Amino acid sequence: MNGLMMQWPLLISSLLVHAERHHGEQEIVSRRVEGDIHRTTFRQLAARARRMANALARLGVKSGDRVATLAWNGYRHLEVYYAASGSGAVLHTLNPRLHPDQLSYIANHAEDKVLFFDLTFLPLVEAVAARLPAVKHFVAMTDRAHMPAASKVPNLLCYEELVEAESDAFAWPEFDENQASSLCYTSGTTGNPKGALYSHRSTVLHTFAIALPDALSLASRDVILPVVPMFHVNAWGLPYAACMTGAKIVFPGPGLDGKSLYELFEGEGVTLSAGVPTVWQGLLGYVDANDLRFSTMTRTIIGGSACPPAMMRTFQDRYGVKVLHAWGMTEMSPVGTVSILKGSQKNLSGEEQFQVQCKQGRAVYGVDMKIVTGQGEEVAWDGKASGELMVRGPWVIAEYFKGEGGDPLVKDGEGRGWFPTGDVASIDPDGFMQITDRSKDVIKSGGEWIGSIDLENIAMAHPCVAMAACIAAEHKKWDERPLLVVVKKPGSELTRDELIAFYEGRIAKWWTPDDVVFVEAIPLGATGKMLKNRLREQYGKRLVESS
Ligand code: ADP
Repeated sequence: MNGLMMQWPLLISSLLVHAERHHGEQEIVSRRVEGDIHRTTFRQLAARARRMANALARLGVKSGDRVATLAWNGYRHLEVYYAASGSGAVLHTLNPRLHPDQLSYIANHAEDKVLFFDLTFLPLVEAVAARLPAVKHFVAMTDRAHMPAASKVPNLLCYEELVEAESDAFAWPEFDENQASSLCYTSGTTGNPKGALYSHRSTVLHTFAIALPDALSLASRDVILPVVPMFHVNAWGLPYAACMTGAKIVFPGPGLDGKSLYELFEGEGVTLSAGVPTVWQGLLGYVDANDLRFSTMTRTIIGGSACPPAMMRTFQDRYGVKVLHAWGMTEMSPVGTVSILKGSQKNLSGEEQFQVQCKQGRAVYGVDMKIVTGQGEEVAWDGKASGELMVRGPWVIAEYFKGEGGDPLVKDGEGRGWFPTGDVASIDPDGFMQITDRSKDVIKSGGEWIGSIDLENIAMAHPCVAMAACIAAEHKKWDERPLLVVVKKPGSELTRDELIAFYEGRIAKWWTPDDVVFVEAIPLGATGKMLKNRLREQYGKRLVESS
């Protein structure tokens, strides 16, 4: 017998309709590429998204067509998010930090039909435009006054002219909630980037889940500033969650330096932010150097790579900002786990609670996870044994766009498919997952595994260390041994021996790094993560060469 409830497809447009109807006056604040601060409301967002949906139809965009963006976090980007997905097209956020060759590979693979871009990226678009035969329209996200006088981009359109030319009467179409809504490519650290194609259903379910109190805990009273770019897995879902909850949203645009971010945090009363650990380093450096405090921010989401405990302590102990350590992947929309204590843990000592918080966290409802051995047997949740982390759920990919790479899932005994994350993790009896490493970064020393994240966290706790990466370096006797690559804080003195001695008592002796290389900077990838494969190419033979 079926239930007798209404059929109401979970569509992204319903988030916008809700925001307009119930939070119409709520503000959206953006630092613009044009240099000023722009203010709008959810009501205006909805009206302009409808105009843009009319414009997309006029440009010949049909249901299922890919609409690409190359843009910072801003209100126009948000309008395209809703206009494209809401009208049945597929929003494809391109990462402007990628190499032009990789960018054109992705845009061609996706067969993007329209490309919206912020003026900052005009030179990049000029460099790749001729290589994008499928793109029929290029749209500069600005007004007529700021349009480039002369440009090599063919038939360049002006965003504000498109919006102004249309009526705001547009009825969001109803269709199957399983229809594709948006497309994000993985960064392709191994092989070509592959597309994760989300659906309306997966996106709306993910939005419900991340808003929950034991996930990112979002409310209409919040003022959210996503530092994580809208081109990095849809800013972890925050542009959708803001509409669902009616929270004020503040977009930093191109201003990602500590000073610009701090001004917005304080000026707009931001309560919650989100970003990868490397961006917070810049912010904390600025706040520290100027002896500032956060007067409204109560919490920040840190994920994308492991949050060093030292950074967590600084945020919490020095600035009173609670860190929500989260883990996820492009293939998971992206949120999988968040580290929020359970009621049963409230009597733990402060230090014990901190240790739990440092883990990657518990699965949010909608994500099932397990850890398995190389032979596929499940590993116990004892907080010690580790294995490869596998996940499944309604916002985890079943396959990549265009079937790239074949079937990514691994079947269990009951025939259910699990997505192998490539992360090595343990899970404790309370269900808190802790990542020791990505399987490709694990250091295999004499047949035993050494997790690089622990070693990096120790280095990061040294007062003279600004950034640290630990890589597997070839070794004659042990196959691989840990090698630390370190950026020192400006003006600080630190020797190899001092840093190696710092590990004493903090880790099993045989885990201690064999050597330290001091560098000016560690290369970062397009989403702000340390490029360890690049470091391995450069320093991976250092121990065999020096022995
Ligand atoms: P890509 O895999 O293309 O670099 P993703 O953003 O999808 O891009 O990265 C997902 C990976 O990032 C995870 O599989 C994991 O290795 C790492 N990661 C994400 N969050 C965390 C975290 N909190 N701690 C440790 N690693 C993390």
